[in-house]
Amino acid sequence: MKPISNHMPTAELQALDAAHHMHPFTAGAELGAKGARVITQASGVTLTDSEGNRILDAMAGLWCVNIGYGREELAEAASRQMKQLPYYNTFFQTTHVPAIALAARLAELAPGDLNHVFFAGSGSEANDTNIRLVRHYWAAKGKPEKKVIISRWNAYHGSTMGGASLGGMKGMHAQGGLPIPDIAYIDQPHWYAEGGDMSPEEFGLERARQLEAKIAELGEDKVAAFIAEPVQGAGGVIIPPETYWPEIQRICDAHDILLIADEVICGFGRTGNWFGSQTMNIRPHIMTIAKGLSSGYAPIGGSLVCDEVAEVIAAGEFAHGYTYSGHPVCAAVALENLRIIEEEKIIEHVREVAAPYMAEKWAALADHPLVGEARIVGLMGSLALTPDKGARAKFASEAGTVGLHCRDRCFANNLIMRHVGDRMIIAPPLVIQPADIDILFERAVKSLDETFAKIK
Ligand code: PLP
Repeated sequence: MKPISNHMPTAELQALDAAHHMHPFTAGAELGAKGARVITQASGVTLTDSEGNRILDAMAGLWCVNIGYGREELAEAASRQMKQLPYYNTFFQTTHVPAIALAARLAELAPGDLNHVFFAGSGSEANDTNIRLVRHYWAAKGKPEKKVIISRWNAYHGSTMGGASLGGMKGMHAQGGLPIPDIAYIDQPHWYAEGGDMSPEEFGLERARQLEAKIAELGEDKVAAFIAEPVQGAGGVIIPPETYWPEIQRICDAHDILLIADEVICGFGRTGNWFGSQTMNIRPHIMTIAKGLSSGYAPIGGSLVCDEVAEVIAAGEFAHGYTYSGHPVCAAVALENLRIIEEEKIIEHVREVAAPYMAEKWAALADHPLVGEARIVGLMGSLALTPDKGARAKFASEAGTVGLHCRDRCFANNLIMRHVGDRMIIAPPLVIQPADIDILFERAVKSLDETFAKIK
């Protein structure tokens, strides 16, 4: 077979890709017909594809490239670590410096007494860990019946059997016989789509109180934990009403339920603080981390665990672990990434420069005839597309058709925005500068205009 490289014609690369590469979340027929876009390199906030297009990546890959592309320090950290100790495990009473240093650094950064970390290779794996961790915790405390985890419809917590079960995406449950037993769901705090005539504040309370009702229905002695993203990401960047999180916190405290904050997207600066839990003012017992932990340069995730839970777990042996838990190369890359975030004051940049500039422009998009709602927190934002702004109405076409069209117009205009149904979402690298934001908006408005012209 001839060597496959960036120099091959795009159509040949696409044909080989469609023939041999099974893609996540991609319809096979579409892949065969259109071919996948071949990304060849990237720098800062810009991707280059095999046809030489320069594309502004307003999704930071999959919400993960927080420090932007092309940071050689991370490549050097990986190279140094690979030469010194490319692999060793952390099972059976062994450890190594990168895992120790990363765990200690995370304990320093995390709020409250989240002083312990169990490493995984991804967010999905970390959430699988959380299921076993919270059930084992209650069993070790003499309450083995306390094992139900309550989650939310339309949440995303990963793609493993555990992660997808914790998630509330019905389309995912329909494939592979999910969910696993003892996972329950309440409705999401999605005021725009589901709030009806209620004010956002009333609706936030109503949705939070579903948790209390679900605990009562199942019995407090059966419920181990509640899991939620501080801001739902893959569900469509759903920023909850202000009343929501304080009420959830009250309910978890009142009913002896562990609170798991899935920070896989919100963590590491996305919402303008190190963690979304700080932005939403919540005190989780466990936080799931991944993505921005290494800015996507290496696959690593983990569960940050509070003192009380960690002490109970550490009293015995937790029969759980991954070959790559605390992988030294990934840990070294993550440490270097955290160093850059801190020393270059990237979170301050989000809070003081990028997010305020973006928020002003984002709010102005609400005036576009196609946009019913424009919401943003830090650097994660969403636009609800609608045929009737006043009524928060849905399109007559199948849900997602207009969103998909708008996503394709964005692609054609060299902008990566994602669509979730008929919502458009963004989460650019945190290092985005005002000049890039101007380009982002120019392309976003053009794409919205083209979409509007098409459906009129
Ligand atoms: N949790 C949340 C909130 C996520 O958004 C994701 C991925 O998008 C995951 C978990 C799963 O992480 P991974 O894809 O690294 O397994």
